[in-house]
Amino acid sequence: MAVSEQEIQNIVRGVLRSMSGAAETVNPEPVHTTQPKQLMGIFENVEDAIAAAKKAQKEIQPMPLEFREKIIANIRKKTLENAKLFAELGVEETGMGNVGHKILKHQLVAEKTPGTEDLSTVAWSGDRGLTLIEQGPWGVIGAVTPSTNPTETVICNSIGMLAAGNAVVFAPHPAAKKVSNLAIDMVNRASVEVGGPENLATAVYEPSMEVSQVIFKHKDIQLLVATGGPGVVTTVLSSGKRALGAGAGNPPVLVDETANVQKAAEDIVNGCTFDNNLPCIAEKEVVAVDLIADELIYHMEQAGCYKASPEEVQKLIETVFIEKNGRKILNRKCVGRSAKVLLEKIGVTVGDEIRCIIFEGEKTNPLIWEELMMPILGIVRVKNVDEGIAIAVELEHGNRHSAHMHSTSVVNLTRYGKAIDTAIFVKNGPSYAALGFGGEGYPTFTIASRTGEGLTSAKTFTKIRRCVMCDALCIR
Ligand code: NAD
Repeated sequence: MAVSEQEIQNIVRGVLRSMSGAAETVNPEPVHTTQPKQLMGIFENVEDAIAAAKKAQKEIQPMPLEFREKIIANIRKKTLENAKLFAELGVEETGMGNVGHKILKHQLVAEKTPGTEDLSTVAWSGDRGLTLIEQGPWGVIGAVTPSTNPTETVICNSIGMLAAGNAVVFAPHPAAKKVSNLAIDMVNRASVEVGGPENLATAVYEPSMEVSQVIFKHKDIQLLVATGGPGVVTTVLSSGKRALGAGAGNPPVLVDETANVQKAAEDIVNGCTFDNNLPCIAEKEVVAVDLIADELIYHMEQAGCYKASPEEVQKLIETVFIEKNGRKILNRKCVGRSAKVLLEKIGVTVGDEIRCIIFEGEKTNPLIWEELMMPILGIVRVKNVDEGIAIAVELEHGNRHSAHMHSTSVVNLTRYGKAIDTAIFVKNGPSYAALGFGGEGYPTFTIASRTGEGLTSAKTFTKIRRCVMCDALCIR
């Protein structure tokens, strides 16, 4: 959705005024062309950003949990108020995604990200007293955030990290720095407005690899959280600090002969096209048992898919990959684009009803083998569920991230779930059900697939502390 220059100016001025009552301190330039100065929590220098977060954490730690909740409630409120703004600016700045879906993602984060209720205590009592196992804060967390869900991740991380008593220094993706910094500003304004400290979340105006390196090595950062591709996750895991790695996926969806095929087709297309396939959990390729493959393709076409010919598939390969340093990499100008835009790039004109591009192909087809983050779904036809499980496991590449299946056979579902061993396994629904959107459970945009914590929340951002009272407080 195109947003005019004037509209953006009006929105940004309006929202900053409502956030702070101090709009006069803000550069009136639109946020997508010029970074507003004096955003709360945003610094020129990374050392200052870390020092400010450290000071804020010292202030928040002794405050009652109830007070953390008060700040979080205001972050939730402001996120709901600004969901449209963040969605529009995110699409505007990154060129990726779908405004309507991004609004839903912000609403989900605001309403369902767990707060302090996520923290729990284990107690043992007996003759020798009382021992508590408590989940305490790490201190200052360094968090790298992606371009694909920029503000969703910043806000979701902020709520969870603050609920656990931490402050956070963000290293947002440079391609989404303006909108990410605006979300950080909102988090701090939410805190200050209810009497909390500023700089609970900080960053610099110009994030870069060099800035991230300072964060990764800094003595005042106790925990690193990386949400992004394999490069950044490997970097934080090699840092020598405790790190959570929320890395890449390539989620296959397997459909067997026992599935409700029409529903499977609709769920797959809905999941795959959500925010133009940017979520790391979204269906990235289909593995279909021969017996139902034609029926599935029919219903996928009914649900808004365009079936590409072999020639069009070849053109798509040449368009969505580019050569860099002798290596084929994703063309960033195609990531997160709609099916209509992708088809336009290969000279095919379709109407707005087309949401997804499908084709049949071998597992080795690069559009199937690689994680695309575009609404393109290759379909691999297999003779039976055994072959389907084996191929799906290969296509997941051992990321242990997400996998999905449509089947009414509990035996097949169980075998696939065990074989693929992913943090997320959605059965008989769209992938986004894993985020509590049309499914049970809480959302997060940081799924610690590489390091095994799975869907992160406040408790993931804690360290375990034992608190022992000797020979007292047991009243049994
Ligand atoms: P990206 O890897 O290009 O960037 C992620 C972040 O890492 C950015 O802030 C970037 O500046 C930084 N970065 C990259 N390499 C770095 C390095 N060597 N040192 C320091 N910082 C570095 O990812 P993206 O394109 O923004 O996001 C898409 C990728 O992230 C996909 O692979 C997707 O699956 C994955 N992802 C995973 C999750 C999850 O929860 N597991 C969530 C969102 C995205």
